[in-house]
Amino acid sequence: EAFNANVAAAADLNAFIVTTPEHALAAADAVDAKRAAGEELGTMAGVPIGMKDLFATRGVQTTAASAILEGFKPEYESTVSQKLWDAGAGMLGKLNLDQFAMGSSNETSHFGNVANPWKANDGGNAVLAPGGSSGGSSAAVAARLAPAATGTDTGGSIRQPAAFTGISGIKPTYGRCSRWGIVAFASSLDQAGPMARSVEDCAVMLGAMAGFDPKDSTSLDAPVPDWAGALNADLRGKKVGIPKEYRMDGTDAEILASWDDGIAWLKDAGAEVVDVSLPHTKYALPAYYIVAPAEASSNLARYDGVRYGLRDLPEGAGLQDMYAATRAAGFGPEVKRRIMLGTYVLSAGFYDAYYTQAMKVRTLIQRDFNEAFDKCDVILAPTTPTAAFPLGDKLDDPLAMYLNDVFSVPASLAGLPAMSVPSRLNAKGLPLGLQLVGKAMDEQMVLNAGLAIE
Ligand code: GLN
Repeated sequence: EAFNANVAAAADLNAFIVTTPEHALAAADAVDAKRAAGEELGTMAGVPIGMKDLFATRGVQTTAASAILEGFKPEYESTVSQKLWDAGAGMLGKLNLDQFAMGSSNETSHFGNVANPWKANDGGNAVLAPGGSSGGSSAAVAARLAPAATGTDTGGSIRQPAAFTGISGIKPTYGRCSRWGIVAFASSLDQAGPMARSVEDCAVMLGAMAGFDPKDSTSLDAPVPDWAGALNADLRGKKVGIPKEYRMDGTDAEILASWDDGIAWLKDAGAEVVDVSLPHTKYALPAYYIVAPAEASSNLARYDGVRYGLRDLPEGAGLQDMYAATRAAGFGPEVKRRIMLGTYVLSAGFYDAYYTQAMKVRTLIQRDFNEAFDKCDVILAPTTPTAAFPLGDKLDDPLAMYLNDVFSVPASLAGLPAMSVPSRLNAKGLPLGLQLVGKAMDEQMVLNAGLAIE
C-alpha cells in the first residue's frame, strides 16, 4: 500500500526512450511456436524485458542517452541482449539512463529526467530521482512497466537505482557478462546485470546474460552456474562480514537502522556475523573518480562525427573544426566534465600524481577485500547513504552527486559481485536498499544472502 506508483501515468516517468512492442510480440510468438512444436523453452521464454539504452540492439536506435548518438541504429546486437533473446525474452523498448551512464540520478540524459514512481509521504509533491545511471530500468521495473530490465554498473549504476526504487539488482563479477556491444564508459569497471522485482528473477536473468564471449578480451572463461536452481536462504555455517569503515560520520540514522535490520535477518537465517575491516574505503571514491573519467576520456574519443550518429560540419570547416563542433554539440555537460577530468589525470605532467596513484589505491582496495574474505563469506553494508533525493537537488553540485556512490564504488574497483536488495521503508515511506558483496565468482553466496533478506 505504501507503493505510490501511478501506472496510469506511466508515460510521465519517461523511462523509455523508444518502445519496441513488435519485438516483445515476436518473441512471444516464437515461444508459442516452440511450445506447439514440443521444443524446449529457454529460461526467459516469453518474458518482455526493458533494455537499458547502452546495449547495442540491431536495427533499433541505441543512444547511450546522448545527442551524439541520436538516430544511431547498430548493425549488430550486443552479446548480452542476444543471449537474452536466445533464452526467449523479448524487448519492450530501450530504457532511459544517464548520458553514457555517467550520473547517479538519470538527470544527465539528453532525453530528459526519469521520475521515480515512489513519492514521499511527507505531504510534499517533489518528484524523486530514480537513481542512476540505470534510472529508466529501475523506474520501469518499480512501476511494473516491465518485469525485469537490464542494467549496467560501473560504480553503482545497478545497485543505487535498485535501492532508490525498492527493487533488486546484481552486478556480477567483472568479466561474467560480455561487454561486447555495450557502449563503453570505463572498460575496466563496466559490468552488465539484471534488475528485477525479486532475487530469484535476478538469478534466472543473470543466468541468461552471463557466459564466456571470445569477442570480449576480459570475458571470464568459466562455466555459468545454475544460480537460480541453487538458491538457498539457509545461511547456517556462513559468515557475514560487517565493514566498520562503512559506518561513516554523518550517515543517516535510518540507513544505520536498515543495516541493523539486515544483520538481524541474516542471523535469523543462521549466519554468524563478524566484524571486518576495509581500511582503504575512504580512498575508493576519489580513486574511482580518477579511473572512471580517465577510461571514459579514451573510450569517448571515438565520437568524432565520422563513425557514428551526429555530425556537425560548419560551412567551410576542416576536420578539426568538425570534431570540435560535433563533440561540443553532442556531449552533455557531465560527459564533458568527465572527458576534461580524464584527459587531465592522464596528461604527461599529472599522470603519476593522479592516475598511477589511483591505480595503487585500487590494488589496496582489492587487498582489503581479499583479507576481509579470509574472515567471512559475504559482506553486508548499505547500498546508498540516503534514500532517493528530489530531482534537481544535486544537479548543480557534482561532488554531492558523486558522494552518493560512496558505498558502491569499492566493490566496482575490486571487480566483485555485489547486489542491492530492498530492506525497509524510511520515515517518509521511501525504500532503502542493503548491499551484499561477495568473493569473486561467488554470485551464489550474494544471491543466497539476498534471498535471506528478501
Ligand atoms: N554514479 C557513478 C558515475 O557517475 C556510477 C555510474 C555507473 O555505474 N555507470 O560514474
